[in-house]
Amino acid sequence: MRRSLTLLTVLAGLSAGPALATDIHGHRGARGLLPENTLPAFREAIALGVDILELDTGMTADGVVVVLHDPALSPDLARIGGTWIDAPKLIRGMTHAELHAVDVGRARPGGKIAERFPDQTPVDGTPVPTLAEVLALAAVEGPDDLRFNIETKLSPLAPGETADPDTFARAVVAVIRAAGVETRAIVQSFDWRTLAVVRHIAPEIRTSYLTAERNWLNNVQAGRPDASPWLGGLDIDDFGGSVPRAIASLHGDIWSPYFRDLTPEALKQAHDLGLEVHVWTVNDATQMKELAEMGVDGIITDYPNVAVEAVRHKN
Ligand code: MG
Repeated sequence: MRRSLTLLTVLAGLSAGPALATDIHGHRGARGLLPENTLPAFREAIALGVDILELDTGMTADGVVVVLHDPALSPDLARIGGTWIDAPKLIRGMTHAELHAVDVGRARPGGKIAERFPDQTPVDGTPVPTLAEVLALAAVEGPDDLRFNIETKLSPLAPGETADPDTFARAVVAVIRAAGVETRAIVQSFDWRTLAVVRHIAPEIRTSYLTAERNWLNNVQAGRPDASPWLGGLDIDDFGGSVPRAIASLHGDIWSPYFRDLTPEALKQAHDLGLEVHVWTVNDATQMKELAEMGVDGIITDYPNVAVEAVRHKN
């Protein structure tokens, strides 16, 4: 009797599924729910219980590290004095004071962002935050073990649009250190040049190597004669086309592939090399579960509310 009860208990446990140790990243805070890369979105992600805040950074003309996705303000997002801007406007050409006057709290009605995220609740009057402001918010409202996945947004194909990799990486590291969150911060980039700088000047900060091998973005460029300009001088073909092997050679910590690029074989290879694998951007509950069961270490999502339901993580 006792044995059969024990067996039933075990079976009940199995049917409920094992606890999955998959970190949930709130992508741009909680982009599906609130205006991306704003304090309201990060506050919501914290309230929903994410493990990691994912965010993007740029630098103003006066050297302030700010949180937004593109090197330029988008006419789909930005209003100045209540009027939508009519052309992209480079952050690099604006002071922080000028940028602070821009409202990014609502997607332009009828624009692509509004179309893609119909459930996003506008918060009019919301400025682009600084990285320091996001970290300060998290210090007050977040748990002590909340982590930060901080992306440097720059492109080797458009060097005039942003700060150079060295200046950019040093500025981001300085903000992380000023907030005292070195051990809870990850710096990520598609442009691996900034990650080399971080590895060099701040080995205590983890690095995450973003990749996509798609027709809309391919920063790996396997099988091509030259090295990809995105990989900081490294030619992926010297590693048999293996991204995990390339990252391991750089002593990186995390591989962050587009989720549809990831195969179980590549995941295993990454884990065997001691890397974590955090995939982006997964918004479907079924796909989240499949990836968690495949064994990914983190899922980056626009909908952390969906992820916390779909993926029972370690908390
Ligand atoms: Mg990002």
